[in-house]
Amino acid sequence: MIRFGRSYVTVSEIAQQFFCEYKLHIAITEGRVETPQMEMGVLIHDEVFRGRSVSAEEFLGIVRSNPVVVATLPLVFSIDGVTIMGVPDAVVFMNGTARAIVELKTSNKWLDRVFDNEYVQAQLYAYLVHKLGLGNNPLVVIIKSRRDPGIVPDLRRRIYSTVIEYVSKAVEMPIKARFRGFTMYVDNFDPSIEARLKWAIDYWLMRREPQASPSPGKCLACEYRDRCPFRNIK
Ligand code: SF4
Repeated sequence: MIRFGRSYVTVSEIAQQFFCEYKLHIAITEGRVETPQMEMGVLIHDEVFRGRSVSAEEFLGIVRSNPVVVATLPLVFSIDGVTIMGVPDAVVFMNGTARAIVELKTSNKWLDRVFDNEYVQAQLYAYLVHKLGLGNNPLVVIIKSRRDPGIVPDLRRRIYSTVIEYVSKAVEMPIKARFRGFTMYVDNFDPSIEARLKWAIDYWLMRREPQASPSPGKCLACEYRDRCPFRNIK
């Protein structure tokens, strides 16, 4: 049985387990708190990755007949009896095969750092792409951009051209490249992500209770700090 009577778990929820699993647990049991920063992040994502909806059949035809296709598509895979579902910001297909997944994270503070939960999320999307046979060992691209709607039109154009340029090159990984308004990280697919996924799944299969990962930095910014017995705030 899956915790909370759920029929599936999202990649984004699994990533949150690597920030603070107890925080995810409170969010589910007591209701999520949406912050203005989250809403702004959603608006920027919608604009940067906007596109045309197509049927699965049409999509396959487009991927087969175009040398480069950038698409947003749902990925679903079962492991240990748990259905994992995720929608990466973009998957870059080259010559009919998925070569990279792209994940955009917006922040006004942390452009120079990829957090563990962000790394896990992006690697899990690559894991799903790999397991579904869409592409072998796809690259993982994480873009850290300023949370500023004013840069979106330029960001959309520059992200697409920069990602395609880097994914096409045979260069040594990992890469960290700074551009005006964003930093791009490119890394190889990390197969060890499966072990971390299995640790996360143990929570959903109720093989263990949620674990808190308190730290002053995390807890001070946490929407649930007032009701959390594990908070670490000096
Ligand atoms: S206050 Fe800290 S330990 Fe508690 S849920 Fe939030 S991040 Fe986790």
